[in-house]
Amino acid sequence: MSTPQSPSPLRHTPSPPLGRTPLPPLSTRHRVKSPRLRKILPSSASSRTAAQLATIRKELKSLPELIKKNYTKWTNGATQCQLECMGSQVLGRDTVLHAATRAGKTGIAAGPHLLPSSKGKVTLVVLPLLSLHEEQVETFKNEFGLKAIAINSAHGGCTKDIVRSIVAGEHQIVLISPEMLLTRRFIDGVLRKPEFGTRCLSVFIDEAHCVSHWGDSFHKKYGSIGITRAFLPRAVPIIAVSATLTPRVHDNLLVKLCIDPKNYLYVNIGNDRPTVAHIVRAMEHPMNSHRDLDFLVDEDMVSPRDVKKAFVYSDDTKEGAGIIDHLNDRVHPDFRSRGLVRPYNASMSREYRDAVMLLFRAGIVRILVCTDTAGMGCDLPDVNIVVQWKAPANMSSWIQRLGRAARGLGREGLAVMLVEKTAFEVNATGKEVTDIVSTPQPARGRRAGRGGRGGARGRGTRGRGRGGRGNSKDYAVLHGQRRGTFSGKDDKISSLPEPEISADAPGEGLYIYIQSTTCQRAIQTAIFRNKTPDVAVDPLKCCDLCNPHLFNRTRPSKPIRASRQQAAKKGLPVDSVRESLWSWRRAIKKQKYPRALFAPHAILNDDTCKRLSAIGPVTSREQLSQHMEGWARWGALSDELFTCMSGLDIPTLVPRPRARAPVAEPVRTSDASAAIRPGPNAPPAVAFAATPAIAHPCPSGPPPPPAKRHRVDTPQPPARSAPLMSLPTPHTPASSHNFPPMAANSYYPYQGYC
Ligand SMILES: [Zn+2]
Repeated sequence: MSTPQSPSPLRHTPSPPLGRTPLPPLSTRHRVKSPRLRKILPSSASSRTAAQLATIRKELKSLPELIKKNYTKWTNGATQCQLECMGSQVLGRDTVLHAATRAGKTGIAAGPHLLPSSKGKVTLVVLPLLSLHEEQVETFKNEFGLKAIAINSAHGGCTKDIVRSIVAGEHQIVLISPEMLLTRRFIDGVLRKPEFGTRCLSVFIDEAHCVSHWGDSFHKKYGSIGITRAFLPRAVPIIAVSATLTPRVHDNLLVKLCIDPKNYLYVNIGNDRPTVAHIVRAMEHPMNSHRDLDFLVDEDMVSPRDVKKAFVYSDDTKEGAGIIDHLNDRVHPDFRSRGLVRPYNASMSREYRDAVMLLFRAGIVRILVCTDTAGMGCDLPDVNIVVQWKAPANMSSWIQRLGRAARGLGREGLAVMLVEKTAFEVNATGKEVTDIVSTPQPARGRRAGRGGRGGARGRGTRGRGRGGRGNSKDYAVLHGQRRGTFSGKDDKISSLPEPEISADAPGEGLYIYIQSTTCQRAIQTAIFRNKTPDVAVDPLKCCDLCNPHLFNRTRPSKPIRASRQQAAKKGLPVDSVRESLWSWRRAIKKQKYPRALFAPHAILNDDTCKRLSAIGPVTSREQLSQHMEGWARWGALSDELFTCMSGLDIPTLVPRPRARAPVAEPVRTSDASAAIRPGPNAPPAVAFAATPAIAHPCPSGPPPPPAKRHRVDTPQPPARSAPLMSLPTPHTPASSHNFPPMAANSYYPYQGYC
């Protein structure tokens, strides 16, 4: 319905309320720009003219020579990929670059400033992690000779003076976080200024995959960077670079950054790192023992340098504490106090992180148990090993971490992913089971019946369909679940057809990669649409599927036979022993870890104390070790614990009561008690209490009626009869456990997690 005042042909134009001025038709309203919008939207006049573009193209021909002359570290000059991206940048064309780390992405932001037409121009570089800002500023200054500044909270944020200096063109490179970029002060003070609009050469977005990965939950501002286009002239291009662009992330990037899919430059030189070998294996030992990481620290080490310099990525920082404990325990006692294994994550102070990173660069700290806080954008050339503890979130995360290995010239690295055994059973393709069942898979031994355990990740695509859990185990074994173990007897497996990789595959195809039976590098190539390299990677250095001998560098420790553990005899807990162990752990805490924040039970937990109180007299370390499998502090405290336990007066092993005692027999033999014979459903406690088999140890009279059966027929050890334990002298004085002096000198390796 239309009114005479607004004869709109649009059928959905709402009728205006009576007494009000009617609104113009919808289509007209959208064409009319408010003064505010007109002010912020880019002007077409800002686009470069044909003459200007011709001048720029002419200049670009001299760019390779300018780079050779000015960037002396680039001995081979700029690559074709770099030149393309630089040219696209100065011509005002949006660009998406997919390239591995070390491909010279930073140089792409710097190179255009060599051109005469770029004089007085400014490049906005958006970086996700503040910790990288300083390093990047130094790189731009020292390597490229540019005036650079980082705007972040560490430098007082976006002050008036800084805003003025940016608009005035005093800096050629402005590094900024997405949060700071989208603050009102920066938008009003910089982006909206016409003077800055003409100066702005490009908006360079590093780690651009974060725009897609983080935008919805973590670092939400990253997903909104595209709105900066509304404030800048059309001629200012966006240059998005990343080492991990899957097809889905790439498409999402175009949408979020408002890039015209028909008019942009996409350069994909792939993210393969031919100098880094891939290894994927399931953990052989219980995960809480962390023994699968033993290959990082040789038992026979003679110097701290024998500890392999490595990143160990653990997304769970609490679990990282256990990893540090275990690896520290493997370090030779002479070097244990040096803190060769350290945590590194965002929860720690900046001072601590700076100090530890300095020590790590110098090779004094050998292993960083870390999160993505360590490594993203940092250039550490001599880290040859990257370990992923448990399956990462997705392939992008893994490739980012893998890319931090062997960055130095001529180095060869190893990227080791240690995954849960169930990672070989999960639904790798994300397809519905019904789809899979229709596909014949005779090689995987399907049987009748639907089974599997289900769960959040689903079952193995081909293992779940039929045959239940047993069949999924077969599936997992066929896909390499038993490869890379200590024995190495199952390292070789038969190649199976690889499934099709779809955009819906869980973890961007991570589980297809894990369950691959042909070549992990080939799966990575397919997932990221990498080009097939001109020179094929040497199969001996490719992956553990191409060369199973690579496993020899990452074997776990020898497994402890289950029969040995079962042979350890146990009886009933003895309270006095348990209390002595409680006293021991308190004393150890006080003596060896006085400054640590954890409680004594972190040294020896209650369950372990109870278990040890039930093993009878301890006569050898071997006997004790049978009961302490997986104890992270065995290396550090086993001597003290053995001395403690061997010094206790522990009664002979008291056998546990049988599960079903013949409780009714004594009642039947007594005429007097026959009168109170319990019925078939009565609890057995009455008859059991009447059994006078064992005298109660309490000398003060008859005991009260027992509440539990095992308290009655168990000879209780004399209360408090065991002598107090004596704390042995520790191998190293407490003071020697202080780590080398550093900025955060109050740091203790366990404190960060407790
Ligand atoms: Zn391979």
